[in-house]
Amino acid sequence: MPDQQFVKREDLIDALRELGVTIAKGDPDAAKERDEKKARLLQAKNEFGATMVRAEHEKNTLQTQCTHQKENGEHATGGQALSNGNVLIICQRCFKEWQIKPSEANLRMIERGDLSLSGIRPPQEEPIGAEVLAR
Ligand SMILES: [Zn+2]
Repeated sequence: MPDQQFVKREDLIDALRELGVTIAKGDPDAAKERDEKKARLLQAKNEFGATMVRAEHEKNTLQTQCTHQKENGEHATGGQALSNGNVLIICQRCFKEWQIKPSEANLRMIERGDLSLSGIRPPQEEPIGAEVLAR
């Protein structure tokens, strides 16, 4: 069997590949493939990160500029009483959330059975939105 002693390296690699063997070392093609795959994954990860940062920025911009009001001037909010005694308020336009201690008016709403706290007044904030718009 003298022929078998002189198997070409490439033929051996091809034969191993056909058998489903992954050649981790010494195969420049496999190493290149691995590096390219790693680079693609890293690029996808970076693009995903950039997209998330952009989305977060857009959400923050929307929330700071939102008046949290409907066109008729009513608060575009809803909420719910939490088991810790606080009230969670959500703006239905920008989805900003606040957790506050309920006021007397809030408690009366809950006692009346208005558990959705529709139109509940959100906490007063610095007018960041107006400042941003004026720039
Ligand atoms: Zn809002």
